[in-house]
Amino acid sequence: MKKHNYSAGPCILPQEVFQEASKAILDFNNSGLSILEISHRSKDFVAVVEEARNLALELLNLENKGYTALFLHGGASTQFLMVAYNLLQKKAAYLNTGTWSSKALKEAKLFGEVIEVASSADKNFNYIPKNYQIPADADYFHCTSNNTIFGTQMKSFPQTDVRMVCDMSSDIFSRQFDFSQFDLIYAGAQKNMGPAGTTLVVIKNDILGKVERQIPSMLNYQVHIDKDTMFNTPSVYAIYVSLLNLRWLKAQGGISAIEKVNTKKADLLYNEIDRNPLFTGFAAKEDRSPMNATFNLSDESLKEKFNTLWQEAGINGLNGHRSVGGYRASMYNALPLESVHVLVEVMKNLEQKA
Ligand SMILES: *Cc1c(COP(=O)(O)O)cnc(C)c1O
Repeated sequence: MKKHNYSAGPCILPQEVFQEASKAILDFNNSGLSILEISHRSKDFVAVVEEARNLALELLNLENKGYTALFLHGGASTQFLMVAYNLLQKKAAYLNTGTWSSKALKEAKLFGEVIEVASSADKNFNYIPKNYQIPADADYFHCTSNNTIFGTQMKSFPQTDVRMVCDMSSDIFSRQFDFSQFDLIYAGAQKNMGPAGTTLVVIKNDILGKVERQIPSMLNYQVHIDKDTMFNTPSVYAIYVSLLNLRWLKAQGGISAIEKVNTKKADLLYNEIDRNPLFTGFAAKEDRSPMNATFNLSDESLKEKFNTLWQEAGINGLNGHRSVGGYRASMYNALPLESVHVLVEVMKNLEQKA
């Protein structure tokens, strides 16, 4: 039976990517060797890393603008501390929009003063705070572009002279805007870029070297830049599969083309959530995420019936995060529009049967 995978992360990738990725396990580039057994310094793999780094910058329209792309270990969670380690000299400003922002904020406190410029914790993070002040003397401002757990997304970013750092783990490569307003962008691969195991960091080169503390090599961006993201053995396979997915995205027409599809999918689902009296959306309407749609049943007694219906339709991964409850439909780039039609049909079906 065809599966419709709404998992929040690790998550769906295009079928073509899975096929090519599996071929490389048996025979990489017709070398007679598996990609899992070759040296990360071999010519074929160095070419993979180079292409992946260049393609990431190309898709973000950040080529030749003083940025470097790195593929690091440790997930986005390691970036929570690495950002502060490398950039926080005295004071940093954080916008708190959910679980991941809170964790980033907590790590930064280990390195200096942290100002929480605003928080939406008062309403269980169901909205994005607006009209906050960023202290002009902050070393940087940190925000989370898309809140994977709560299903909210920043539609615009503050205009400020302070350096901007953004956790884009769950919406990178999903929508077009001016990425050059950021000095550092990071994203764990497993939400919208590839499999778990690598983290993309896009960094403006001139922001480094401004803190006084000693930084251990593995946590030092400059070391990874100087070593072309091969200071130690990189996540060979995760980077390769990410490259396949970035190639796929380019072939679709890049970010602006996929954004149109993403908008269609999100409109389809949110329209049904709003139309169908059995469902209520969790996030404030103006802040709704096209990547992660969070919603609840209006009548909890229908839970079993609804769960049976979507499972029978081949839908997977629809349960909400434990801190929100209800349901979460993650509609990353690779999720086809057809899968959203299937979910909407199930929701209509429930209404008829209830
Ligand atoms: C999943 C997620 C993280 C954590 O990523 P790891 O790679 O598991 O450390 C951080 N930020 C956001 C927005 C996420 O969605």
